[in-house]
Amino acid sequence: MNNSLMYQINIEQDRCQGHSRCCSIAPNFFESDDFGNVRLKGDGTISPDFETIVRLAVANCPERALSLTNLSEQQVKT
Ligand code: SF4
Repeated sequence: MNNSLMYQINIEQDRCQGHSRCCSIAPNFFESDDFGNVRLKGDGTISPDFETIVRLAVANCPERALSLTNLSEQQVKT
């Protein structure tokens, strides 16, 4: 894995209220669990090709439960 080209999706589960906006915007990366809260599909790493759609999902979470970490910089981006 080339970390310079990867981002990590982070979820603060305590904040998630199950609106499913993230699942609607980026269904390849988010899904609802049995309780209606979000969970990741896969390991949550994404390439820059998908950064725009995942950032849209992050920006549309009304609970601010989502963030992205640039694995090459190890800085939290919202
Ligand atoms: S939009 Fe935010 S609050 Fe709603 S399911 Fe996704 S992470 Fe949870």
